Amino acid sequence: KAKEAGRARMICYETAMDTDREERNALELDLRNAIERQELTVAYQPLVDAVSHQITGVEALVRWNRPGYGPVSPDAFIPVAETSGLIEALGLLVLRKACAAARQWPDLRIAVNVSPGQFRNPAFADYVRHVLKDAAIEAERVTLEITEGYMIQNPERTRQSIERLKRLGVKVALDDFGSGFSSIGYLRQFGFDRIKIDRSLTMDVLTDSHAREMLQATVALARALDLPVTAEGIETEEQGTALQLFGCDELQGYFFGKPMPEAEISRRLAVQTARVPDRERDTAA
Ligand code: C2E
Ligand code: MG
Ligand code: MG
Ligand code: MG
Repeated sequence: KAKEAGRARMICYETAMDTDREERNALELDLRNAIERQELTVAYQPLVDAVSHQITGVEALVRWNRPGYGPVSPDAFIPVAETSGLIEALGLLVLRKACAAARQWPDLRIAVNVSPGQFRNPAFADYVRHVLKDAAIEAERVTLEITEGYMIQNPERTRQSIERLKRLGVKVALDDFGSGFSSIGYLRQFGFDRIKIDRSLTMDVLTDSHAREMLQATVALARALDLPVTAEGIETEEQGTALQLFGCDELQGYFFGKPMPEAEISRRLAVQTARVPDRERDTAA
């Protein structure tokens, strides 16, 4: 009896595993098609000056409207792209689109996320060089964001990859700082141009004294190393003010704008530019 029940449970478990695998395969197939048909789009989220709240850059974030399902979160399909070898094509597509879009915004920095699967390839810097050349965009305007996971596993290769990229003139930012091991030693060694503090820390800035202490210490450390700091996930004005006072020079989050289509960024920039004469008149008066 007990044996029978055990077997039934086992079969059930195997069926669940099969279903998982099938779903994953279906997702991978749909994603492959979406990449081939260029159905992935890119949304842009404002990066703002911490004091003036003016838009100084944008982060490119991939978007996928999966046929028959609706929008799928990058957190759900980027890992699949990573393990199925699709990440290089996906990453290249996003980088191309982002650089093309950036041509309309000559005053903005453009930040693009890079996965370990792209970064690991010794030819990655060459891809980047070609894309920049095709888009005729200044390398200094481009920031590539990498997370620490890969860095900790492969410190030596990471250092080499960063060096190659920096030789092109692009900037390299450490993304999601504070979400994982966040090795302080690496901050200095790798030659990052910026760190971005993860939302899991910034979200508690007003409510949790330990999070606040960690944030203050982290920003102070980064500044001691002459590294500018972006605070991610700012959802209220008060959170933004606190992080600005701690020393962040750049803020990002729903309070300033969710990821949005290219045209909406252009519209906001037009409004922002139109406001400048007002401000100059005010100070002159
Ligand atoms: P990330 O690079 O840390 O990007 C920030 C994520 O936080 C974005 O989620 C953004 O929509 C979200 N976010 C920004 N402000 C707020 C806020 O105030 N509140 C909340 N709740 N969320 C906020 P998204 O677009 O879902 O992307 C998730 C992650 O997927 C990204 O985290 C990045 O690691 C990865 N990703 C997105 N696009 C790409 C891409 O083109 N290539 C690669 N390799 N990874 C990407
Ligand atoms: Mg990012
Ligand atoms: Mg991040
Ligand atoms: Mg993230």
